[in-house]
Amino acid sequence: MTEIQIEEENKQIAKAYKELLQISYRSLSEDDKKLIRTAFDTAVDAHKEQRRKSGEAYIFHPIAVAKIVASEIGLDATSIAAALLHDVVEDTKYTFEDLERLCGTTVAKIVNGLTKISMMDKDEEKPISLQAENYRKLLLTMNDDIRVIIIKIADRLHNMQTMASMRADKQVKIASETLYIYSPLAHRIGLYNIKNELEDLGLKYTEPEVFNDIEQKLEDTKEEQQAYIEKFSDQIKAGLEKEGLHFEIKGRHKSIYSIRKKMVKQNVSFEEVYDKFAIRIIYKSDSANEKLLAWKIYSLVTDYFRPNPLRMRDWISFPKSNGYESLHITVIGPENKWVEVQIRSERMHELAEKGYAAHYKYKNNSEQEDQGLDSWLDKLKEALENNETNAVDFVEEFKLNLHTKEIFVFTPKGDIKSLPKGATVLDFSFSIHTEIGSRTRGAKINGKLVPLNQELNSGDQVEIMTSKTVKPTQQWLNYVTTGRARTKIKASLNEERKQIAQEGKIILRRKLKTLRVVLNEKTINELVRFCELKTSQDLFYRVGLGTIDNKVIKDFVASRSNTFVNFFKNKLRKANPEHEQVDQTEITNQYDLIVFGKEEEKLNYKLSQCCKPIPGDKVFGFLTINEGIKVHKYTCPNALQLQSNFAYRILSAKWIDSTQIEYKTDLKLSGIDNMGLVNEVTKVISTVMHVNIYSIAFTSNGGVFEGNITVGVKNKSVLKLLMTKLNKIQGIQKITRV
Ligand code: MN
Repeated sequence: MTEIQIEEENKQIAKAYKELLQISYRSLSEDDKKLIRTAFDTAVDAHKEQRRKSGEAYIFHPIAVAKIVASEIGLDATSIAAALLHDVVEDTKYTFEDLERLCGTTVAKIVNGLTKISMMDKDEEKPISLQAENYRKLLLTMNDDIRVIIIKIADRLHNMQTMASMRADKQVKIASETLYIYSPLAHRIGLYNIKNELEDLGLKYTEPEVFNDIEQKLEDTKEEQQAYIEKFSDQIKAGLEKEGLHFEIKGRHKSIYSIRKKMVKQNVSFEEVYDKFAIRIIYKSDSANEKLLAWKIYSLVTDYFRPNPLRMRDWISFPKSNGYESLHITVIGPENKWVEVQIRSERMHELAEKGYAAHYKYKNNSEQEDQGLDSWLDKLKEALENNETNAVDFVEEFKLNLHTKEIFVFTPKGDIKSLPKGATVLDFSFSIHTEIGSRTRGAKINGKLVPLNQELNSGDQVEIMTSKTVKPTQQWLNYVTTGRARTKIKASLNEERKQIAQEGKIILRRKLKTLRVVLNEKTINELVRFCELKTSQDLFYRVGLGTIDNKVIKDFVASRSNTFVNFFKNKLRKANPEHEQVDQTEITNQYDLIVFGKEEEKLNYKLSQCCKPIPGDKVFGFLTINEGIKVHKYTCPNALQLQSNFAYRILSAKWIDSTQIEYKTDLKLSGIDNMGLVNEVTKVISTVMHVNIYSIAFTSNGGVFEGNITVGVKNKSVLKLLMTKLNKIQGIQKITRV
C-alpha cells in the first residue's frame, strides 16, 4: 500500500470511530468515552497487521460490531469496549491480563467468553449434536454475563453481512449455523431486526436461487404495492387528519425468509402468500393517550374498510411476552383485497423493531435505565437456563418455544399469563410456580373440572387445585408441552427416585442382617449382578419399591453360600436353634396365616414339600383326597399340571397377618372422569396395597365421577396409606371416609 492509501485508510478508521460514538443509544459519560477510547486504541494496535479476506484493514470489523452493539442493541459502554476488543485475545499477542489491566475485569471477562466461543467455532468436523452440546454449555456458562451472547450475535451479523469473499462451503456452514442457533437467539433476546436480517442472509447462502427468486419478485411487485398503499392512504388520510392525528402510513413486506417459510408450510406459490405485506399506521402520541389513539384509528379505518372480526389481534391490551405491542386488523382494502393493518405508536414501533434497545429512548432517569438493563439481562438468563434436558432437546425446545404462537389465559384473580399454543393445564400450573405445578391435583377451566392434560385456549380462566400429597409422576411428562414444565417434572422424578433408593439401601441392610450377611461393596456388587442390574442405585431403588423382595434376597443369599459354608451354618443352627427363629420373624410378623377362597376362610392346611412355600410367596391351595389342603407356590413345578387337570380342586389362597382383624370401611371418591380411572383405582387397592375390595360402584356425569368403595383394612395406617395412594391417581379430586 502506498503512503497515501495508508493515510486514506487511517482517515476512514477515524471516521468510523467517530460515528460509533455518535450512534450510541445511551448518553455516554466522560468515563465511558475514556473506556471506549482505550479499547479502540488497543484494538487498533492489536490488529494493525491484520487484513480481512476482502482486503480491508481488520479493525473495521470490530468497529462495525461495536456499532451494532451500540445502536441496534443499545448496550452500555462496557459492551461497546468489549465489542471493539472481541477478537483481540484470540488473534493477537494481547492476553486476558493485558485487557484486564487496560480496560478492567468486566470487559476482559466478556472478551474471554467471546474468545471461548470462537475456539468452539473453529472445530469444524463436529456433527450437529456435538455442536448443540457445546452451545448449550456455552449458553449456560455464559450466563454469568449474557452480554457475551449479545455481542456474539452482533459479531455474527457483521460476518454474515460481509461473507461474499469467503469460500462457498464455508458460507453454507456459517449460514446454516446462523439459522440454527443465532437467529433463534436473536429472536429470544428481542432483536427482531437482527433476527430478520440473519434469517434473510442465512437463506441467501443456503438456498441462493430461492432467495434471489423471491427477492426479484418482491422487487417486481414493488411499484404495484406502492400504488396500493397510496390508494389505501388516500381513502383514510383525510379522516385521520380531521381528528388531528399525526401519523405515517407505510407498507412493509414480510422478510424473504418468512415468505419462503410460509410458501413451504402452506405449499403455496409466492403469488398465493396473501399477507406478504402489511400496512402500518404509525402515530405520534404521548404515553397517556397511546392506547386511546390506537382504538380511535381502528375505528376510523374500519369506517372505510370492512374488518374481518376473526382476524383482530390486540397486542396493546395484552402485550406479547417479549414486549411486542400493536393492534392488528385485517380488512377488505382497495380492490377488494384482504390486507393486514398494523396500528402502533412510534414507541411501539421502535420496540417492535429493536426490542429492548428502544426502551432507553423512552426513559430519562439513568438509574432506572440500568435497572432496566439488569432485569432484562436477568430475564434472558432465566430463559437460557435449562440444565436438565440434553443439548439437542435444549436447542430444539428453545426453538420450539420461539416459533409457536402464544395463547393468553387468566388466573382466578384475572391476571394474564401467556403460554405457547398447545399448552395444557399442567403447563399453566408450572408456569405460575414450580411448587404449585408439582402439587397440582386438579384444575377447573371456567369453573368446570378438567383433566390435567386439557389443552388451554386463549381466554380460558384457569383455577389450579393443589394438594400436599401430590407428586409429579412419569405420566405427567405426557401431559405437558412446555420446556419449563418438562424440566421441572423430570427433576422431581429424579429426586423421588433418589429418595426411594436411599430408603431401599436401609431396608436392604436390615434384611441382609437378618440373613447374617453384611451389606458392603462386595455384597452390593454381587447382588447387582444377581439381579441383572447395572448400578447399585438401580438395586436400592428396586428394593425401596419392593420389586426386589425378601424372596429375591433370600435366593441371593442361598446362591451365594457354597456347601462348605452351609455345612457350618447348619452346625451353627443346630448348636444355636434360636437363629432359625430370628431368621423368619421379620416375615412371619407380617404374614403368618393362609386364608382360602373369596371369603378368605381360615382352613387347616399343610405346606407342600415339593416347593416349600414361605410367607409372602404367591400360593394356591390344592384339595387333596387324603391330606386335606396342601399349599403350593404358583411357581411350583407341579402347579401347572395340578391347575390344568384338577382346576375344580384349586382354592385361591393368600398369606395374611392373623394378629390383625380386617375392618370394612366405606370410601367415597370423586374427581374427573378419565379413561382407565376405575382400572387404576382397583389396581392401587388390590395389586399395590393388597387390600380387599368388598364392593365398588362408580357413576359418571358430565365428565365428573363419583365412586363408592368398601374395602377391608387391617388398621388405620393401612387405610391412611391407601387413601394417600388413591389421592395420587390422576383425576381423583377428593377421597373421604364415610
Ligand atoms: Mn469477530
